[in-house]
Amino acid sequence: MKNYKPKNRLTAQAYIDGVLSGNRVILSRAITIIESNLETDKALAKEIIQSILPASGNSMRIGITGVPGVGKSTFIEAFGKHLITQGHKVAILSIDPSSQRSKGSILGDKTRMEELSNLENAYIRPSASGATLGGVANKTAESMLLCEAAGYDVILIETVGVGQSETAVHGMTDFFLLLMLAGAGDELQGIKKGIMEMADMVVINKADGDNIRKSELARLQYQNALHIFPLAESGWEPIVTKASSTKNTGIDTVWEEVLKYKQLVTTNGYFHKNRNQQKIRWMYDNINEALKQLFYGSKEIAEQLSVLEKNIISSEISPVKAAEEMIEKFKKTF
Ligand code: GDP
Repeated sequence: MKNYKPKNRLTAQAYIDGVLSGNRVILSRAITIIESNLETDKALAKEIIQSILPASGNSMRIGITGVPGVGKSTFIEAFGKHLITQGHKVAILSIDPSSQRSKGSILGDKTRMEELSNLENAYIRPSASGATLGGVANKTAESMLLCEAAGYDVILIETVGVGQSETAVHGMTDFFLLLMLAGAGDELQGIKKGIMEMADMVVINKADGDNIRKSELARLQYQNALHIFPLAESGWEPIVTKASSTKNTGIDTVWEEVLKYKQLVTTNGYFHKNRNQQKIRWMYDNINEALKQLFYGSKEIAEQLSVLEKNIISSEISPVKAAEEMIEKFKKTF
């Protein structure tokens, strides 16, 4: 199946021209190529990415996280519409490693962000699916480059607030936004300390109706909690605000803060430094992943590993020596 060549493919140049001219249909089809696991598509994807690379990068990349139910899609709908009224073109991507499109992913539900998805200057793409988080993250990051080349100048990357996907999103965005609720403990919200630490901004969502007072209290508590963390390399002090995504309050403040952040990090040089570091890390992540696959994917290695496991248990060989032996064997296979 892997060498099967689908008939409905365009030439690489047709995808490149279509993306660069901002054609949404071609953009979607190009992202499908990026997401495909077919060998012929992988070659096509490389050619497309290589060509559009110089036209990418010209956007503000914002990561958005928070547990299911916190209001991410409602917030993105309100925030996206606000950005569009400010003259921006907004692309919304997501990283949801649990996504199996055909089985209906948490973030892939087509009915989410319905109003936004009907706007000319919004482009919404559900999460790619894949066997590994690294694979899904790669596809999302490359899709982001395509969106930028197609003229989208704000990219929102959504992720569910559980597990490792936040780190992946943080590693490919300029600004990281955490949505929280008032009155729910941190544990309840599934938010780990590490995620709080990554946040450039925390928004207490659903600050409306009876919830306003509680939200102000939560805002103060989180603001104090964030003061404990050492100042980030960006030089930016994370800020906590309140918003109501359904009542559309506090949404404009979020964008104002993003702009303040951008101003600061552009002036102090962190914006480009961070982008460069992210690109380099992206390469190393791929090298690490490929090496692992080479090693563990080898039948010979797998067989010897199972023998060594037994020898380790019976204390015939030390774990360190066993590892060394395996690496030596691996080196000889080249
Ligand atoms: P997600 O799972 O994080 O994407 O959350 P959703 O956007 O689907 O929202 C979950 C529920 O919270 C929905 O019923 C929304 O209508 C509701 N919701 C989202 N934002 C707000 C808000 O600002 N105020 C209130 N009162 N409800 C909200």
